[in-house]
Amino acid sequence: MSATRQAAFDPQTRVQYLSGVGPARARLFEKLGLSTLEQLVRHYPRTYLDARTFVTVDALSPDRVLTVLGQVHSAAAHRTRRGRTDFTARVVDRTGAVTCHFFGQPWLARALVPGSRVVVSGTVDAAGRMLNPMFEVIESEVEELLHAGRLVPVHALTRGITGRGMRGAVRRALDLVADRVVDPLPPALAARLGPLSAALRQIHLPADERELAQARERLAFEELFLLQTVLEIRRRVLSEEGRGLVTAGPGSLAARARQALPFALTADQERALDEIVNDLRSPRPMHRLLVGDVGSGKTVVGLLAALHVIEAGHQVAFMAPTEILARQHVTTLTRFARSVETSVVGLTGASSAGERRAIQTRLEAGEPLLVVGTHALLEAKVAMPKLGLAIVDEQHRFGVRQRATLAQKGVIPDVLVLSATPIPRTLALALYGDLDLSPIRTKPAGRGRVVTRVAGEEKFPQVLEFMAQELVVGRQAFVVLPVIDEGGAVEARAAAAEHERLSQHPLLAGRVVGLLHGRLKTEQKQSTMDAFAAGRVQVLVTTTVIEVGVDVPNATLMVIENAERFGLAQLHQLRGRVGRGAERSVCVLVPGPSASAEALERLEILTHTEDGFALAEADLERRGPGELWGMRQSGLPRLKLADLRDDRLLERALEAAREIVSADPRLRLAEHRPLQEALLRDYREPLELALAG
Ligand code: ADP
Ligand code: MG
Repeated sequence: MSATRQAAFDPQTRVQYLSGVGPARARLFEKLGLSTLEQLVRHYPRTYLDARTFVTVDALSPDRVLTVLGQVHSAAAHRTRRGRTDFTARVVDRTGAVTCHFFGQPWLARALVPGSRVVVSGTVDAAGRMLNPMFEVIESEVEELLHAGRLVPVHALTRGITGRGMRGAVRRALDLVADRVVDPLPPALAARLGPLSAALRQIHLPADERELAQARERLAFEELFLLQTVLEIRRRVLSEEGRGLVTAGPGSLAARARQALPFALTADQERALDEIVNDLRSPRPMHRLLVGDVGSGKTVVGLLAALHVIEAGHQVAFMAPTEILARQHVTTLTRFARSVETSVVGLTGASSAGERRAIQTRLEAGEPLLVVGTHALLEAKVAMPKLGLAIVDEQHRFGVRQRATLAQKGVIPDVLVLSATPIPRTLALALYGDLDLSPIRTKPAGRGRVVTRVAGEEKFPQVLEFMAQELVVGRQAFVVLPVIDEGGAVEARAAAAEHERLSQHPLLAGRVVGLLHGRLKTEQKQSTMDAFAAGRVQVLVTTTVIEVGVDVPNATLMVIENAERFGLAQLHQLRGRVGRGAERSVCVLVPGPSASAEALERLEILTHTEDGFALAEADLERRGPGELWGMRQSGLPRLKLADLRDDRLLERALEAAREIVSADPRLRLAEHRPLQEALLRDYREPLELALAG
């Protein structure tokens, strides 16, 4: 490659200037997020097709992808009966001929001209033809094969860009800029891992599995290293700045409230509370995740922490994900706090304008209140000048941005996130590297067991019979339907239909069946919830509205319909709505008629274990992290190659990140310039927020 050509192509050159692309095709590449040559060479293959086995034509087989080297004997385009123009080429070698048939690609006539030497990879059909084989015309002996006869890379495509087109563009981009893509890794680290340019070439065009594995590890490490570096910077900045407050009183308020509780805290609750109070006493802003399975008693821990803060004269915001839960929290917290004459005020959809104003006035005056609401409290409409602690229920994705919203007058309040999503350690480390964890692993004693069963739809009558029996002895039941569409319209209809069916079912004669779904007005939801809590409604047909936090100890039966549509973690959360009292509870999973064998197997896992952490691990293994915890929405760019389950690589990345950040916390050294730029590209927001301090 000549020096002038090299000079002309910077990795930031736009894809449109690549030969064979141009402005129109460049727009197609844009659709895939590929604007520059660097992005193109970073567009790693999704998978690879192994077309490395060369055979003679007479040895082609329908069972596996095989490759022949031959010559185009004849070629012709022809119209099909359906009006499409197909193309066929006969390829011969010394043992015979094979017909290669391409659907609707007449233009191939230009490439596959009689006499040309070709490599063709594919399987043959019953008639001995190769349908849409991969092929490559050999123009020179020195050119490396790209489309056939090798480990063929398969990239994500979009309409208008073929696999061949993409491979060609990627290879040209590699030739032009692979050597010039700036390596974000610091030089010492890069030296240990080998050159980036080789890894980029090998991820697209690996000679063999070994090369591929090496390239993948190098590039996956880079992704994890960037992630860990930004988290490490956040951790350090947060721990150094001390912009937090000392927000814990001596604890007599909390101690009195504890005495009034009808139960003693479990050992795990005690330990978690200690950890939280220690954080409150330190000027370092707390960012702690209190993780405990559903029903493990996180709310009361949150409340006691809140009392420490209130005692110190600060305000506390307690936020729930939904209106219903916010109101439920108002009730529970009021009950818990009554003994210590602490005011719990609710700022929910139910509050009148007058109430709102009154509360706002008290808050502005700096009165130490415990304010309970939905996450909307965050939206800065509510001024809490003395906010010392924000407790966020069931919002494990609570991140830096939300925390910054809370920071008023430059003071960062302590943040306690309550989460029932049992996050496997590795994932927690990766996602919440800057979060401290307080796990509650054991549930309070005296809880009834939850027995879980899978019952096909044909058993539904028996399920209803069982339900009727439970109702006779005064228990209550949930019937849960999955969310079917985003807007909730279908879901609402399905719930309404099921409500109708059960209301009229002879087995449930004389019972009140309630209906709760996302489309109802807040007041309707609330009154139904109240009626269920009070036992006036015995069966509640609902959707995932109730997924989190609803606490009705008298409910002992949960029936989940179309259960295969839920993830394990979600099913586990749902079944946590029962088993809250001392009685044995039952959760029945009813898969829909089209549930696959694999889905049924997945449901079976729930019948064996009640341990949320174990289930989360199982789910993680099956579905991968992206789907599970909505990582895409969490502000993390998608990790293209790295697997968060790869403990070994994660640890290595963390170690490397620590080393760099402890030597150069703000990445000011020249040799860390590329690293900083890569972080600004991939993690701009978290990084800027962290460094703004
Ligand atoms: P979650 O962790 O799911 O938010 P909650 O805080 O709603 O759980 O607690 C579930 C139930 O357990 C509540 O009724 C609560 O009063 C009760 N509870 C909490 N801690 C204890 C304890 N140590 N002993 C007995 N019951 C408890
Ligand atoms: Mg809760």
